[in-house]
Amino acid sequence: MSIPLAVPNLEGNEGRYLQECVSSTFVSSVGPFVDRFAAMISEESGAADSAVLCSGTVALQMALEGLGIGPGDLVICPSLSFIATANAIHHSGATPWFMDVTAETWTIDLALLRREIETKTEPLPGGLRLHRASGLRLRAIMPVMIMGATLDFDALVALAREFGLRVVVDGAAAIGARASGDRRLSATGVDALCYSFNGNKTVTCGGGGAVAAADPGLISRIRHLTTTGRVGRDYDHDIAAYNFRMTNVQAAIGVAQMERLPQFLARKADIARHYATLAADHAALSPFPAPGFGLNTHWFSGFYLSDMSIPQDRAAAISDAFRAHMVQAGVDLRKFWKPLHLQAPHAGAPRSAMPVCEAIWQRIYPLPCSTHLPESDLDHVLAAARTFWQGASWKGLAA
Ligand SMILES: *Cc1c(COP(=O)(O)O)cnc(C)c1O
Repeated sequence: MSIPLAVPNLEGNEGRYLQECVSSTFVSSVGPFVDRFAAMISEESGAADSAVLCSGTVALQMALEGLGIGPGDLVICPSLSFIATANAIHHSGATPWFMDVTAETWTIDLALLRREIETKTEPLPGGLRLHRASGLRLRAIMPVMIMGATLDFDALVALAREFGLRVVVDGAAAIGARASGDRRLSATGVDALCYSFNGNKTVTCGGGGAVAAADPGLISRIRHLTTTGRVGRDYDHDIAAYNFRMTNVQAAIGVAQMERLPQFLARKADIARHYATLAADHAALSPFPAPGFGLNTHWFSGFYLSDMSIPQDRAAAISDAFRAHMVQAGVDLRKFWKPLHLQAPHAGAPRSAMPVCEAIWQRIYPLPCSTHLPESDLDHVLAAARTFWQGASWKGLAA
C-alpha cells in the first residue's frame, strides 16, 4: 500500500460522537453537534457567527450571494487555486477576474491587482467600478490562502476599501491560521471567511464547509439562503433558496476534529520543517512559501523546483520523472492544480498576464502530509526524495 498524500486522522472522539448521533437519532441537519461545531468555527475565526454548510465550494458561493453579489458582477481571484474558487464565483452568477500571484507568496499580487483595477476599470456613479472590456461591475476580491498560508490582510483590506470592494476569503485549507499580530482572521476586517472540511483538509467533517463573519446579519442571510428560505413555521418561503445544510453526523466528526486542532497544526508544521530541510540541501529546490504575515497552517507542504534557469518544458519533464520515481517507491503523488485561467470552463473570463503562475505550477510538488503520518513513513518519503535529487538522472533531464 502506498503512502497517501492526505487522509483523515480519526483517532479522537469521532467514533464516540457518531454513535451519539445514532443513539439520539439526530442524524440530519438539526442537532447539538451542528450548533457546537458552528460555535467552534466562530471562536477559531474570531467571528460573531458562522453558518456550517455542506461543502467549501458552497460556502464561497453563499458568502458572495449573501453579500448581494451575482449576475453582472465581477469578482477578482488569483489564478493559482483549486477550481472550486472559480466555480463558486460562477455559481453565484458573477464572473471571475483572474490575477497572477507573486513568486514569493503564491498568493494574489496586490501591486498587480491595483494596476489592473486602475487601468481596466472606471468609476460608476454610486462608488462601484465598471470593468470596461466586459461591461461588468467590480464587486469583490476572493483571495486564496493557498495551502493554508496567511496573507497581508491589512494591505488587502485597505486596497479593497479604497475601491469599494468586499473581501470574501477562500480560507478553505486555512483553519487555525492567524493574521499578523496574532489576530484571528475575522478581526482583520474581511467580510467573510470560508472554510472547507473535505476529507483531505486539516480538519474534516467527511465533507463540509463554513462561512464565518463579523457581521451576524450576513450569517443570518446565509442561513436563510441555505435552509430553503422558509419564513415562519409553515411552508411559506420568500426566495427560491437552497438546501446546503451540514448534517449533525458531519458536524459530530467536525467537533471531534476541532478538539485536536492544536495537535494537527503542530504536526503539519513539523512535516513542513522536514521538507524544508530536504529542500535546503538541494540548490534547485525551495520549500513552499511561508509568508511572514502571521501563522501559516501548512495544510500541504513539499518543495518546488525554484531554479528558474531550467526551462519550462524541462521542468515539466522533471516533474513527471519525480512523480514516477516516488510512485515507484510507494509514495502517492499527484500533479499540482492547473491554474484557473487555463481551465476550459473559465476560458472566457478576464485575466491579467500570468507570467508567475505559468512558470511555477508545474514545478510544485506537494508531498504526503496527513497529521497521523507515522515517523517511519515520513522518513521513507524523505529518503526516496533524496535518492531522486541526489541522483544524476534529473540533471540529465534539466540539461
Ligand atoms: C478544498 C478547497 C476548496 C473546496 O472545498 P470543497 O469542500 O471541496 O468544496 C476551495 N478552495 C480551495 C483553495 C481548496 O483548497
